[in-house]
Amino acid sequence: MKHILIIGGGAAGLSAAVTAAEAGAAVTVLEGRKYPGGNGRYAEGVFAAGSRLQRRLNIDADPEVLFRQAMEFSHWRSNARLVRALIGRSGETVDWLTDMGVPFSRVLHHMPNQTPEVFHMAYPAPTGLRVMKVLQARAEVLGVSLETETKARGLMYPGHGIVGARAAADPRVSGATAVTPDTPADELRVYKNYDAVLIATGGFGGNPELMRQMIPDCDPEDYARLKGIPMNGDGFRMARSAGAHTPRDIAIEGCGPVYHGRGELTALIRRPECLWLNAHGQRFCDESICSDFIYGQNALARQPGRYCYAVMDAASVRRAFEAPPGLMAPLDAEDNGMAKLYDVIEAEIPKDGVVRADTLEELAKDTGLGDGLLAEVAAYNAACAAGHDSLFGKDRRSLHPITEPPFYAVYAGLDIITTHGGIAVDEHMRVVDEGGRPIPGLYAAGIDISGVDSGDYSVGLSGHAFGFSLTGGRIAAESMLEYS
Ligand SMILES: Cc1cc2nc3c(=O)[nH]c(=O)nc-3n(C[C@H](O)[C@H](O)[C@H](O)COP(=O)(O)OP(=O)(O)OC[C@H]3O[C@@H](n4cnc5c(N)ncnc54)[C@H](O)[C@@H]3O)c2cc1C
Repeated sequence: MKHILIIGGGAAGLSAAVTAAEAGAAVTVLEGRKYPGGNGRYAEGVFAAGSRLQRRLNIDADPEVLFRQAMEFSHWRSNARLVRALIGRSGETVDWLTDMGVPFSRVLHHMPNQTPEVFHMAYPAPTGLRVMKVLQARAEVLGVSLETETKARGLMYPGHGIVGARAAADPRVSGATAVTPDTPADELRVYKNYDAVLIATGGFGGNPELMRQMIPDCDPEDYARLKGIPMNGDGFRMARSAGAHTPRDIAIEGCGPVYHGRGELTALIRRPECLWLNAHGQRFCDESICSDFIYGQNALARQPGRYCYAVMDAASVRRAFEAPPGLMAPLDAEDNGMAKLYDVIEAEIPKDGVVRADTLEELAKDTGLGDGLLAEVAAYNAACAAGHDSLFGKDRRSLHPITEPPFYAVYAGLDIITTHGGIAVDEHMRVVDEGGRPIPGLYAAGIDISGVDSGDYSVGLSGHAFGFSLTGGRIAAESMLEYS
């Protein structure tokens, strides 16, 4: 019988655990937190190409077409064999989860007119929590030893040498050390004699120092955190100490522009009719790009101070308030999440998050954007009257002049969800060194791995952060079982 050790009980970790246990392995999962599931619990949808549900819905999601799309998005910087494997097996993953009891019932486009639809959602929502609970229940039935509040610290070689401390006679990775609430301060709990070890610790979006080190031009101070668990890069550090190649092609999956603290205001400023003005009072993009949250993030990240004001008038706020429920709301939803919009605006004005004024001149003065704001709004209103945004070509259906008082300016910045990348692996999820040689016994999956989102997260492959983590976990488990 194979003995498998998994570090991290989130999307990739639990998917690997169930796959390995279904094949008869003895599996131990070390999960640092009280509850497993990681950021997988927050995901709203799962990418898949070629699932049974897609076929039933007559959605032609051809893995080969999506593979090309993914590679072209990265300008073929990504690891083609790895991306091909993750897309190629993604449909099976959703089928496997469906058979396990996840009620997938909708496949949505995530951006306007996106085809083919790949974003699988379960109802009743939320999808991520449902997937993680089903995987956890299945793992328990299969006898997986799920050790919560057990935070892995380091990897071990046979003979129980600590990886990184000295060269081992036998270079296989075969265990890990960990701390638990009841481990004495100067001691580590030892998990030893495993056939293979998987790292699946969910990136390092909560570790500013590592982000600065690994991501060129990144100042983590510019990013606030979106809800989710801020992972600190333990897996990355452990893999590096074992000799893993750790290329600096990390993508930040973030979001921008966003209002820090109130979802209603973020939804408001991400409506395509807003004007986003930078510190000089200038527009810097077609605001309708916000349906791809990475486009918005990238455009804002280029601006001085990495902030903007989203400027709008009373009519824009009214339209947001009265809008129908969004794409991802349940089909029978009546609430569009904006019921408290006016109260939220009132509450945020004293905190300087929202500026409200009876005239544009006053708005220009109170935001400090001065003549820049006045000139840009005048030019924009002229573009709306002409029905053509000659600056950035925004769709004319989103061109609404800013004329009805009161006027609003909402201060907006960047958020981070997670990082993607860090540990180089091959298409079998084996961790490799700088020469591309597998490090014996060591595997990685989930967003800890590099070679998928090389520099930029592709929203076009909607739901792939979660989807590739689940599929990568399955592939890793199969490889670990083959390894001897
Ligand atoms: C708010 C939010 C919404 C999202 N929505 C979507 C979406 O709709 N679609 C999508 O595709 N993706 C979405 N994502 C991203 C997606 O959830 C993650 O990319 C995915 O969960 C990554 O899987 P993973 O296994 O790599 O990490 P995780 O699922 O985060 O699991 C990592 C696990 O490792 C554990 N861990 C960390 N360090 C240690 C250690 N030293 N020892 C033991 N355990 C450790 C953590 O506690 C955690 O349980 C969203 C993320 C957030 C935060």
